[in-house]
Amino acid sequence: RDSQVKQNLLEDKSFINYKQNLEYVDIVRQRLGRPLTYAEKILYGHLEDPHGQEIERGVSYLKLNPDRVACQDATAQMAILQFMSAGLPEVAKPVTVHCDHLIQAQVGGEKDLARACDLNKEVYDFLATATAKYNMGFWKPGSGIIHQIVLENYAFPGALLIGTDSHTPNAGGLGQLAIGVGGADAVDVMSNLAWELKAPKILGVKLTGRMSGWTSPKDIILKLAGITTVKGGTGKIVEYFGDGVDTFSATGMGTICNMGAEIGATTSVFPFNKSMVEYLNATNRHQVAEFAQLYKKDLLSADEGAEYDEVIEIDLNKLEPYVNGPFTPDLATPISKLKEVAVEKNWPLEVKVGLIGSCTNSSYEDMSRSASIIKDAAAHGLKAKSLFTVTPGSEQIRATIARDGQLDTFTEFGGIVLANACGPCIGQWDRRDIKKGEKNTIVSSYNRNFTSRNDGNPETHSFVASPELVTAFAIAGDLRFNPMTDKLKGKDGKEFLLQPPTGEGLPSGGYDPGENTYQAPPKDRNQVEVKVSPTSDRLQLLSAFKPWDGKDPQNMPILIKSLGKTTTDHISMAGPWLKYRGHLENISNNYMIGAINAENKKANCVKNHYTGEYSGVPETARAYRDQGIKWVVIGGENFGEGSSREHAALEPRYLGGFAIITRSFARIHETNLKKQGLLPLTFHEPAAYDKINPEDTVDIIGLSEFAPGKPLTLRIHSSSGTWETPLDHTFNKEQIEWFKAGSALNKLAAAKK
Ligand code: SF4
Repeated sequence: RDSQVKQNLLEDKSFINYKQNLEYVDIVRQRLGRPLTYAEKILYGHLEDPHGQEIERGVSYLKLNPDRVACQDATAQMAILQFMSAGLPEVAKPVTVHCDHLIQAQVGGEKDLARACDLNKEVYDFLATATAKYNMGFWKPGSGIIHQIVLENYAFPGALLIGTDSHTPNAGGLGQLAIGVGGADAVDVMSNLAWELKAPKILGVKLTGRMSGWTSPKDIILKLAGITTVKGGTGKIVEYFGDGVDTFSATGMGTICNMGAEIGATTSVFPFNKSMVEYLNATNRHQVAEFAQLYKKDLLSADEGAEYDEVIEIDLNKLEPYVNGPFTPDLATPISKLKEVAVEKNWPLEVKVGLIGSCTNSSYEDMSRSASIIKDAAAHGLKAKSLFTVTPGSEQIRATIARDGQLDTFTEFGGIVLANACGPCIGQWDRRDIKKGEKNTIVSSYNRNFTSRNDGNPETHSFVASPELVTAFAIAGDLRFNPMTDKLKGKDGKEFLLQPPTGEGLPSGGYDPGENTYQAPPKDRNQVEVKVSPTSDRLQLLSAFKPWDGKDPQNMPILIKSLGKTTTDHISMAGPWLKYRGHLENISNNYMIGAINAENKKANCVKNHYTGEYSGVPETARAYRDQGIKWVVIGGENFGEGSSREHAALEPRYLGGFAIITRSFARIHETNLKKQGLLPLTFHEPAAYDKINPEDTVDIIGLSEFAPGKPLTLRIHSSSGTWETPLDHTFNKEQIEWFKAGSALNKLAAAKK
């Protein structure tokens, strides 16, 4: 148990710290005098100060020391630009950067990749040189999706990883606590500062029994999303346990953890088990697997009698496949009811496109099971009725399924194999089969289906399901199709029932790594030059935000009072805007353009408080800022749910915003706002949201005595008079310093001087 074991095969100096993790866990267990859950063990094993740290689930802020950081290309640009502005010579922890978000799906894998390399050359060159300069690993475009690469190469049981992407929890499938954060958090860890997280509550999900037939791991999380809704996991880690957890593959567990992001969970995790050993061995990490076995009982599983804050039980014997959507991932409909519900709700019944793959569902097992259904249909002379796309999660998956024949099965069926990248999952899709504005249905094995996410068309009804079910829909071309009960007509006119999917969990011939797409940092990093052109419209070096002026702001206009769901996609849209993720000025032109104005129910149409004219949200914000006027946004529940995108926080700060006042926040967005020096505040009385008129102006009172747990006051000046309402906040002492300094980074830079 004392040996030095490397975290992975790509880095010589990153070691697994089980011994120290266990020492810390023992200290905390003794202090708390109670058994610990598995998630707690990972967290407390990575504390900065196990002796002194206050620990109360749901209350204390933990100061943590993560093992590593992963960034995707869209978020890495701003994270690295921020890291550069802190003036340090190299990153303090192992960091990898993955080029996956900027590749648009158009005609298919190779051509789309070549086009992306051309279009994004400046950004890729910046990331390749900056990672080399500051000692980070770089995964080139075409290598695959961040979470798949992490699972294949870097994840290990008991590790604590942060990643600048909301589906980072995918690595929970290998028993790792992997948490999605904003770029500013990543910068903290890169700079060797402790990373802070409010001690999550633990939601236990007990799995019993065993799945069979058409049911797959995806259905567990689709069902759970229906139970908890999109905010049921907020502030919680989902920890799976029960005899059911040992009945399926590590990649299946990855799918479940991945989509835990859709219920707002901090992360999700499975305890170390045999399937993880098999996956580690299959990906050539025998040493990691052996080492983990030595710590299985003490460190890599929950203590007997561990207590969860709540427990949900799912009986896998009774679980049926689910289809979730449209427009939200928690609208869960079991396949047996889908026909009835789809007709009743008037959802478009023709399935225009079936999309499988993505970081959520592109394992060898997913691909094999989907291919088995296609083979069955093909044996009856059938091809895809819907358009059908396949996104391999990594070059390793693509190469392996190319070798083993599944890829040919997909293309013979009529499928298009897209690049190993995010593509349509993040709106990088040059969709041509329908016109914008046309009502239609698509079904994907992805994780997220908010309005407009996949193709920018608000009329697209996007559903998420297992890849097996998506494939069946693509064969039938109809949302009413239930492959468990409905027959298809073969070419010979005879009716038949599709056979339930089958497929190997891991390739019996081993994985084929495919093309080598990894760039390790060079030995001599002094010679590397990082270029950012001052005339670039893709990249812009950052200037520091101004510190707080010490005054309570008065008479601030409300830029927008947003109505209904305001996700990070509404706040800072993806799709075509992804290309400006490294250029704050340009990307700020998308601020809140997807949010609905409560005053006129329109998107991107707000009234300038001073001129009375209507224009776009970013234009109005700029007009206020240029006249030195601070402004606020008023929002509803779970404001900022969705992704970890810190642009959704950088943009309002850059455009002169002062506070975002809502009924409640999604965790990552709230922290991101704090990091950028903004005030995320919540109405103590939720009804105040309804009382506020978009034409009112507001004061925030109490900032000179701003303190943890002490409410502030919102004074509202409306045409009918002035009234006040209390505002809550979750700032701790250090975060209040960020606000005062103008941003967390300002505080960090000041500390280095
Ligand atoms: Fe990419 Fe979609 Fe996965 Fe995000 S959820 S990493 S956009 S594939």
